[in-house]
Amino acid sequence: MNAIESVSQDRADIDYEAFRQELVEFMQTHCPGALREKVRSNQKLGRAEFSQWQQILHRRGWSAPGWPVERGGTGWDLQQRYLFEQVSAELDCPPLYHHGLGHIGPVIMHFGTPEQQARFLPRIVDGSEWWCQGYSEPGAGSDLASLRTSAVLQGDEYVINGQKTWTSHAHEADIMYTLVRTSNEGRKQAGITLLLVPLNTPGIEIRPIHTIDQWHHVNEVFLNDVRVPVSHRIGEDGGGWACAKFLLDRERLSPATVPRLLRQLEQVEDLIRERIRQQGATPSLHAAMGRLFLAQASAQGAKEMLLSAIHEEMNGTLRSSKSSALKLHCSELSQQISSLAYDLAAPHYAPRLLPQPPTADGSDELDIERQLVHTYLFYRSRTIAGGTSEVQKNVIARDLFGA
Ligand SMILES: Cc1cc2nc3c(=O)[nH]c(=O)nc-3n(C[C@H](O)[C@H](O)[C@H](O)COP(=O)(O)OP(=O)(O)OC[C@H]3O[C@@H](n4cnc5c(N)ncnc54)[C@H](O)[C@@H]3O)c2cc1C
Repeated sequence: MNAIESVSQDRADIDYEAFRQELVEFMQTHCPGALREKVRSNQKLGRAEFSQWQQILHRRGWSAPGWPVERGGTGWDLQQRYLFEQVSAELDCPPLYHHGLGHIGPVIMHFGTPEQQARFLPRIVDGSEWWCQGYSEPGAGSDLASLRTSAVLQGDEYVINGQKTWTSHAHEADIMYTLVRTSNEGRKQAGITLLLVPLNTPGIEIRPIHTIDQWHHVNEVFLNDVRVPVSHRIGEDGGGWACAKFLLDRERLSPATVPRLLRQLEQVEDLIRERIRQQGATPSLHAAMGRLFLAQASAQGAKEMLLSAIHEEMNGTLRSSKSSALKLHCSELSQQISSLAYDLAAPHYAPRLLPQPPTADGSDELDIERQLVHTYLFYRSRTIAGGTSEVQKNVIARDLFGA
């Protein structure tokens, strides 16, 4: 019995093989070659690439695979959702951008008013509005409830002051969903509120953070007397912590992660075989093959875990320990795979080991070894972003043992 059979009830009315074929044909025909080449060669993707693909999928009705039909989603079952991610990864199509579809969209569906749902959800599905997450602050990362950015209600507006940090894609986003402190009374969690802040509001300054990989991914966001209407608050004043927890459980369960890891393993295997063709089966290449087999076995384990987690999420029975265990496992596995790729690529890349700025004509952009080194550097953040590995272990222990 394979992983899919063990966790899902096959629907007799769906021909999964025909569905898979439909996905393959659509993605091969409609995903532009230049985009697939960027994904294949591990280049950094930005809004332009993500939204180009999302709009293509939207025209086909496939831009929100995990959403219900009445919200513009596909209504697909578990197998269909997994097949979509699998074919997309195998054919080097971009992953779906997660901040709208995977994070704030489900929160608005669950906690938002009908007016908020009508205003925000369609633009997530069609990819016309872009989101970022303003949770972390200097001094409030793992201990998120210590956040200090304040919002004071004045009439029918909140006035926000403070600083967010590590805000991924803020420089490309239209709206930031953010946690702010609206009260200092009682438990720290009770004074937190979730607000939606359009990033063109006066008083916002976005500054890039320069990271080791030299990709512009994260930012600091400064908020100085920023005014947003009360209608941009999700849930109750002081009800932000419930929204944050709902979102974090989903953030840790990303259906795209495992198929992407499996695709990276294929690429590393190709690289090892290429080296063996060039150099013969040296002891170090033998050792690399051994590391690859172990990583492949771990990835199969991750796939089993993902499928059962999606199944539970669809039934409303997902436990936080499972999504945290999956996040922990996949973060560490992605670092193992990128370390293996780095060990193979770095000696060839050594003269230019420190990432160089792109050349004017972009000629260097497709240098696969250079991109593997960038990916290795970028993936150091995998065990930090979205909650550190230590924090995931705490969540698992609390959920399983009540610790
Ligand atoms: C690439 C990247 C992208 C990010 N994108 C976003 C984003 O879009 N939006 C956003 O809001 N944030 C984002 N973050 C921030 C991220 O969520 C935080 O960095 C993370 O939660 C850790 O917080 P911190 O950096 O303040 O470290 P700290 O919380 O200060 O942790 C420092 C160290 O102490 C350990 N530690 C802390 N508490 C405990 C504990 N209770 N038990 C055991 N060990 C503990 C941690 O594991 C870590 O090793 C991003 C971070 C990175 C690196």
